[in-house]
Amino acid sequence: MMNKKVLNESTLRQTRLKNALKRVDHEMFGICIVCEESIAIGRMLVRPESVRCVGCAV
Ligand SMILES: [Zn+2]
Repeated sequence: MMNKKVLNESTLRQTRLKNALKRVDHEMFGICIVCEESIAIGRMLVRPESVRCVGCAV
C-alpha cells in the first residue's frame, strides 16, 4: 500500500515547485512578496518555492 499522506505532500511540493519555476519568468522570483527585498540565495537553493524572505517568513 502506498502511503497516501506522503504522496499528497510530495505532489503538493511539486506543485509549489512548478509555481516557483513559473515565477522565474517573472521578476518576482527570489523577491519577497511581503517586503519586496531579494530573498537570500541560500534560502532559494534550499527552498526554491520560497515567496518570503527569512525575516517575513516568521
Ligand atoms: Zn520580506
